[in-house]
Amino acid sequence: MRKIVFFSIPAHGHTNPTIPVVTELVKQGHRVWYYSFLEFQKKIEEAGAAFIACDECLPEISQKELERKAGKDFAALIEMAADTTMALDPKVCDELREIQPDCIVSDSMAIWGKLFANKLGIPYICSTTSFAFNQHTAKLMKRGFIEIWRMIAGLRRINKKIMQLNDHGYKVDNFVSLIQNDNETDTIVYTSKEFQPLADTFSERYAFVGPSIRQTVPVQDDKRDKKTIYISLGTVLNQNQNFYQNCFKAFANTDYDVVMSVGEKTDISSLGRVPANFIVKNAVDQIAVLQQADVFISHCGMNSTSESLYFGVPMVMFPQHGEQRMIADRVAELGAGVKLKGSKPNDLAKAAAEVLVNPAYSIEARKLAESFRNAGGAGKAARVILSKIGKGS
Ligand code: UDP
Repeated sequence: MRKIVFFSIPAHGHTNPTIPVVTELVKQGHRVWYYSFLEFQKKIEEAGAAFIACDECLPEISQKELERKAGKDFAALIEMAADTTMALDPKVCDELREIQPDCIVSDSMAIWGKLFANKLGIPYICSTTSFAFNQHTAKLMKRGFIEIWRMIAGLRRINKKIMQLNDHGYKVDNFVSLIQNDNETDTIVYTSKEFQPLADTFSERYAFVGPSIRQTVPVQDDKRDKKTIYISLGTVLNQNQNFYQNCFKAFANTDYDVVMSVGEKTDISSLGRVPANFIVKNAVDQIAVLQQADVFISHCGMNSTSESLYFGVPMVMFPQHGEQRMIADRVAELGAGVKLKGSKPNDLAKAAAEVLVNPAYSIEARKLAESFRNAGGAGKAARVILSKIGKGS
């Protein structure tokens, strides 16, 4: 029996892929502890791990502020992560000395997991739910002017936090070392090698295990006369009335069926009259909808993109920040979708028609789906973790 401790950040997209891995480890008779947040307690306990709440140590931040920072204000996120580390430090270090884990598996954004492992000399595995990230892929991440400006403005604040971390016994040289994947660290990446940009620049210590797609009952894909367009901007940066109304204008009175998920905070009545061929909801069962969709107009979050490709659905891409732009560029490069040139009704209509008419896009999407299915999944991730412990490094 091995003892494994997981750390993640309070985000479903970062927690979900690890859940089948926990289930697999527990099934094999290993003990798992999971440092996370109350919102995720149920699913973590159902997977068989002991849940430990970190909520009290997370800096106070309003939902609105978090949305502003998500993906756009990188410096602020690093500051928050450093504060979380220092707040967790006494409690978690004591507990880890007690548990004496064989290994820590920590999300790449939950930098505290990595810092605790380093401080206490515990073997560490990085878990990456987006693309693996190094100095080569960093060049692919085209940041907007405001993002770059916030980053530069935030560097002084970050350096101050790094000094504080060093005072707490954490050896941190610079902020890049906090967030970058390196070739000496065992790293589980929840995508396929085929989808990962610049996959050759990552060492053999990277295990590309494929995305973890929530399994549901397969939806019967009846022969339909009409094409279905699915539209969603995800769960975070999704308040975009103008975009939704442009979708109305682009696809009203067409022969398409349109399903549009506008997010919990969008007031559907504020969008005006819903065209007859639209179903508009605050949230949908995306996995079920994708099984019937012919094209997905998406913000290109990593989960939405993986889910779309997993079901062989080509994409029209409307990324909202640097990371999503990198994902969209990769999908476009592999020919499984097109990036929007603008978000006017005409841009939307043209891009959707292009993807629906040309079968090459869905052929490429289905090739990626196959790479995801062959990547090894949770079973492979569990084997990577156990072999790391076996090596005792
Ligand atoms: N999602 C869903 N129903 C919706 C909209 C989104 O189930 O109506 C799920 C979707 O399946 C995906 C996640 O929410 O798993 C969105 O994650 P993603 O990484 O794409 O974007 P984020 O919300 O983090 O921006």
